[in-house]
Amino acid sequence: MTGRLGVGVTEVRTAVYTVPTPEPEADGTLAWSATTAVTVEVSAGGCTGLGWSYTSPATAGIVDEHLAGVVRGRDAGDTAGSWEAMVRACRNLGRGGLVSHAIAAVDIALWDLAARLLDVALVALLGASRTSVAVYGSGGFTTQSDAELRAQLEGWLGLGCTAVKIKVGESWGARAERDLARARLAREVVGDTVELMVDANGGYRRGQARRLGRRYDDLGVTWFEEPVSSDDPAGLAVVRDALRCDVAAGEYVHSLAEAARLLPAVDCLQLDVTRCAGYTEWRRCAAFAAAAGLDVSAHCAPSLHAPIAAATPSLRHVELFADHARLEPMLFTGVPEVRGGRLHLDPDAPGHGMRLSAQAQSWRTA
Ligand SMILES: [Mg+2]
Repeated sequence: MTGRLGVGVTEVRTAVYTVPTPEPEADGTLAWSATTAVTVEVSAGGCTGLGWSYTSPATAGIVDEHLAGVVRGRDAGDTAGSWEAMVRACRNLGRGGLVSHAIAAVDIALWDLAARLLDVALVALLGASRTSVAVYGSGGFTTQSDAELRAQLEGWLGLGCTAVKIKVGESWGARAERDLARARLAREVVGDTVELMVDANGGYRRGQARRLGRRYDDLGVTWFEEPVSSDDPAGLAVVRDALRCDVAAGEYVHSLAEAARLLPAVDCLQLDVTRCAGYTEWRRCAAFAAAAGLDVSAHCAPSLHAPIAAATPSLRHVELFADHARLEPMLFTGVPEVRGGRLHLDPDAPGHGMRLSAQAQSWRTA
């Protein structure tokens, strides 16, 4: 029964996949050795939509216990109504954190389902403004040797990336000279015409971030992400006002209200569709940023961002995060390809075009 909406959601299924990283990895303030994707599949009218979030396995329980019953039976085309009903159902649980990741996975699956029912590409349903989006290479973990960092940077140049980002703020800012040495190495590898970005993941204090920021400015760094904690918007604003490079943050934005709190403190708002409650809330947050004269940049999950990024006129770029760029073609089929520094959408594939792969089962943990 494709080609129309007006059919009720019949099934909501969750699964959990955990994929180890090749080596233990770390940024300035966190270490990890695996990535977990919680997937949601929603079915209606003979079609199935797929969404996911990179999050805790516990997120699957939130979908199963608190969201599946809300969505089941609703019109598959009523993405906005389902989204509002999910938010309302979780009032007492708290709107942020895992609840927001859970709503995101369901909302993404519902958008994919609606596009498949209409037999159109999701990017067309969202209102495509382009068919490809610029990506920047992102990784540069603090755990890498210089040789590993060099090889990763050269890999992104080979993909045609015109911007790259490395982690700094190692050990909560305790290894600032190593941070600077790695940034210098990155500049040396990519040359002067490629944009160099750094991400401290909130690892510096305000004064330290200002002082180091001047040295990043000297290296031509154009993007200083979370120089201080995103819980300190006033601190982000102080650092931004002291430096030439753009200050960016937003990866922990779960809602429009949280986006609004960050807007006065950043030069570009980052948004993560797998954390900010899905495509529905992304669009509202991006519009809010545009009203403040700010671009948005997609954080992680490049394949899921491709359709919404292509439909967002004020998009700056999409983050080709190393862990997710590696994992997405393992867990899913139909992943958009990177060519010439851009992620290319298939305009003929219904929905976002992705499905769980057959080999995904080998990483399934729940
Ligand atoms: Mg970041």
